[in-house]
Parts: sequence; C-alpha cells; structure tokens
Amino acid sequence: MIVEQILVTGMAVFCYLVADEKTGEGLLIDPAGDFDEIFAVVEKHGVKIKYVVNTHGHFDHTSGNDHVIAKTGAQLLIHEADADSLGSVTNRLLSRFIGGKGSPKPFSFLRDGDIVSVGSVKLKVIHTPGHSEGGICLYTDGHIFTGDTLFTEGTGRTDLPGGSTKKIYDSIKNKILTLPDDTIIWPGHHYGRFPKSTVKEQKQYY
Ligand SMILES: [Zn+2]
Ligand SMILES: [Zn+2]
Repeated sequence: MIVEQILVTGMAVFCYLVADEKTGEGLLIDPAGDFDEIFAVVEKHGVKIKYVVNTHGHFDHTSGNDHVIAKTGAQLLIHEADADSLGSVTNRLLSRFIGGKGSPKPFSFLRDGDIVSVGSVKLKVIHTPGHSEGGICLYTDGHIFTGDTLFTEGTGRTDLPGGSTKKIYDSIKNKILTLPDDTIIWPGHHYGRFPKSTVKEQKQYY
C-alpha cells in the first residue's frame, strides 16, 4: 500500500494519497491546493485517482475538489451530514482565499461502516462527529486518517456549526483510541511538532 502525506495550502492542510501499488488505483484525501505538488506525487507512483474523499465539509479541506476532479475524473465522496457545508456560500467564498473553488456535488455519500476500495486496499469509514456533524476518519490496518477530529497535539475546534465537545471526545475515545496501539494517526493539519502519531501515544492524553 502506498501512503503519501503532502502538506498543502497556507493553512497547513495534510492531503493524503492512498493507493494500491499493484493495480495503480488510488484516492486522494482532502486535496485542498498546491496541485503541482499533489500531482507530482501521484505521477511518481503512476497512480490513477479513483476517488476524492473529504474528511469533512470545511473549505480548507474541499477547496481543491473542483480542480482535482476536473483533471482526474475522480468520484467525490463525503458524509451526508457535511453535504450542506460543502455546498454553502461560505465554503465557496473562503475557498477562493486559498487558491481553490467551491466544490462539485458529491458522487455519493458515505456512512459509518462503509468500505472505500482502491485495488486491494480497503478503507473503512468511521463516523466521528464533534468537529463537524459529518466528520469521518478512514481506517485500514495500521493507519487511520483523522481529518480535523484528532491532531498529533490536540483536537479540532468544536465551536463551529455542528461542533460538539462531548461528541469529539466520544469519537476520539471510543472510535479511534480503541484501535490497535500501533495504528499510525495521520492528521488533517500540521499543527504541533510532529506530522503523525500513534494510537498508543495519543492514549496518554485522553
Ligand atoms: Zn475543519
Ligand atoms: Zn481543517
């Protein structure tokens, strides 16, 4: 399995390429901007992008949807509860500040327990509300992509529309930190000193 972490935009967003190196099929998680860098990584591995998956509907994660989908023909997937924020005027306007655009409509919606497959790589959708109502994490053996639910040194904001401190702690404790200790945590932003963490490391904080 290929996992590449790409730091994009002035908002320190982490975009991820996840792909099956045997079939060359892959997906991009939150390809928010800095498209030359993203596509250099995609081309380095010779990957065909099948899906764009948004961890949630905030503009700093979705501003590149339009560009990447136009270029690759990928299908857009997001949790239904964040579809409104994805299509909002605020999302469209703020996206322009970081060099992107409003997002096209999703191809289909994700629910807790869904599996997103690229080749033999299977990512399980874990619904983790708290930062936003439709926030998700994507999990496969050894790796979890946590969006703005969990960073290496703290959680995402809970004061935005749809946010809830109670829900984010519930999501982190009961849905993320119950995974095997050696699972690598790949966050949605480069906040703090380290670009990644593990379940074992995070357990000491929650
Ligand atoms: Zn967010
Ligand atoms: Zn964010």
